[in-house]
Amino acid sequence: MLEITKESIEKATAKARIAKPLVKVIEFRRYSVTNKTTGATYEVRFTKIGNQKFGECSCPATKICYHISSCLPINAVLASQMIQTA
Ligand SMILES: [Zn+2]
Repeated sequence: MLEITKESIEKATAKARIAKPLVKVIEFRRYSVTNKTTGATYEVRFTKIGNQKFGECSCPATKICYHISSCLPINAVLASQMIQTA
């Protein structure tokens, strides 16, 4: 799992804007991301521990990748619609 911070997602977000991969919701905090050019599909998962957010992706990247950053806006929208239970 990789911690998601402003700093750690900065480059990935820039790359996501260029790559514009196709993001599908599997369930809340679980997404399928497809590169439209290569057809490669990876699975992204998010976890929240306290106030820290973590992400993981099935691609070979060892840092926060653009698959993870591509899912963040959708995850934020879904999270805002969720009734959070302690
Ligand atoms: Zn990835």
